[in-house]
Amino acid sequence: MQKYSNRLRIQGKRIGFVPTMGYLHEGHLSLVRRSVKENDATIVSIFVNPMQFGPKEDFKKYPRDFKRDEEMLKAVGTDVIFYPTANQMYPKHYYTYVNVENITEGLCGKSRRGHFRGVATVVAKLFNIVKPDIAYFGQKDAQQATVIKKMAQNLNMDLKIRVMPTLREQDGLAMSSRNAYLNPEERKSAAILYKSLLLAKQMTQKGETNPKRIINRMKGLINNVDSSRIDYIEIVDAETLQPVKKIKGEILIALAVYIGKTRLIDNLKISRR
Ligand code: AMP
Repeated sequence: MQKYSNRLRIQGKRIGFVPTMGYLHEGHLSLVRRSVKENDATIVSIFVNPMQFGPKEDFKKYPRDFKRDEEMLKAVGTDVIFYPTANQMYPKHYYTYVNVENITEGLCGKSRRGHFRGVATVVAKLFNIVKPDIAYFGQKDAQQATVIKKMAQNLNMDLKIRVMPTLREQDGLAMSSRNAYLNPEERKSAAILYKSLLLAKQMTQKGETNPKRIINRMKGLINNVDSSRIDYIEIVDAETLQPVKKIKGEILIALAVYIGKTRLIDNLKISRR
């Protein structure tokens, strides 16, 4: 992969890169399409990274379908699929990790200890392997995008990070590979995540500035759904990811909610002067 990228770079070609865990949907493809538009070559990685899963999480059962992914990626103009094995990425005597502090402690970092260490480590490795000029991430994973931007900035990585909007299903549910876990009833219930975000947005538009009141209303709405269990709902500063006391400036309303056994995340960025 490095040799291939070196050749492209010597030819003065711009490389776009989309890291994924596969089982692709339109959300992933929107990043790939953007990359194809903006670059001379687009490289997509498919790697279900064991390092970012906790011992009780869904690494083993995470959905995988390389053939289908390959067809989808070809159809949108992907030049190369980088599809390494876990042993290639983490051979014996692997000892090096990337730890982004502070912004990894709240939100998903709280209930998924070590998750962002796994994410930052694998993405740093992928950047060194693929050598992209621009890498594309989704706003769907807002904390992840913030962590990657901070890592690239702090470690002087010579590339641009682009964060693309969240693609949603008709009923507003954010597209996710994990939606495949939901049974038909749960799938219907899952629309409540986005509904609660819209309720929050509406409240801010009507002048509500107290995050607690917004979060309480969101909790009420979500708790009405039988199969739901809230992991967190937080309103944070969009840049620092620290909870805000008042709705002002660029803020992120972020949540993680279990629908049945499936943990889903979503968020909405809003700005208020
Ligand atoms: P994943 O395969 O879940 O690791 O996601 C790979 C990339 O696609 C990440 O940058 C995600 O944020 C992005 N992504 C996932 N779902 C969506 C979506 N619904 N809309 C836009 N981007 C997404």
